[in-house]
Amino acid sequence: ARRLADAFLTAHPDGGWLDPSGTAQLLESYGLPLTTSLWAQDEHAAVVAARSLRQVGHDGKVAMKAYWPEQVHKSAAGAVRTGLARESEVRSAYREFAERFGDRMAGVVVQPMAGPGLELLAGIVQDHVFGPLVVLGLGGTATDVLDDRSTRLAPLTEHDLTTMVTELRSAPMLLGRPGMPPVDLAAVRRALAALSRLATDLPQLAEADLNPLMAGPDGLVCVDARIRLE
Ligand code: ADP
Ligand code: MG
Repeated sequence: ARRLADAFLTAHPDGGWLDPSGTAQLLESYGLPLTTSLWAQDEHAAVVAARSLRQVGHDGKVAMKAYWPEQVHKSAAGAVRTGLARESEVRSAYREFAERFGDRMAGVVVQPMAGPGLELLAGIVQDHVFGPLVVLGLGGTATDVLDDRSTRLAPLTEHDLTTMVTELRSAPMLLGRPGMPPVDLAAVRRALAALSRLATDLPQLAEADLNPLMAGPDGLVCVDARIRLE
């Protein structure tokens, strides 16, 4: 992780966002569960990628996202297509992206569709006074509407791992109710603990944003992550 950060900051002295592959390398080296992301730079490669993911995608479907450096909100820009089931849908989604974004688009990321789940967010933010904070909250489209999150200074204690979940207003959605199974809380704790280790190990990490983590009864998988180094 340190080597990767040093190499990036040598090439980008003012800092910036890691590309998808650097982001995946860093998060995976800390055991954070990321979905498979295949990179494609033309329509044919996108179709080949989708084909190879069909067996793992929920209901045999894939998601496709247009990528360019420094992008912020992909779905607001129309750069996310989900639930693509047929080869023709993958082709027309790719053409639509290419038409809409033109040369700005560096390529597309193709992922298996994650199974249905509760969308959570988790991440790291730097506080200029206190140092790195770890965040957990409700993710996806609920992020801005409900702004339900809990924050702790890294390194997190066992007690933090528990209370970060229980103090959320949406805690009942994680802990389960009659008719609604709890999400995999052990997996949520592992992800928070991993972010805590990453934050304490890597002071150059200015911001990490995992949103959403799709949380189901048997696990957790992140389908969108960004990391900024400084
Ligand atoms: P952004 O946050 O930049 O708009 P995301 O990659 O988070 O883009 O995608 C937006 C939404 O699309 C997610 O919150 C999620 O609901 C859905 N989504 C994206 N990728 C997948 C995937 N691989 N499986 C299931 N749903 C996905
Ligand atoms: Mg997102």
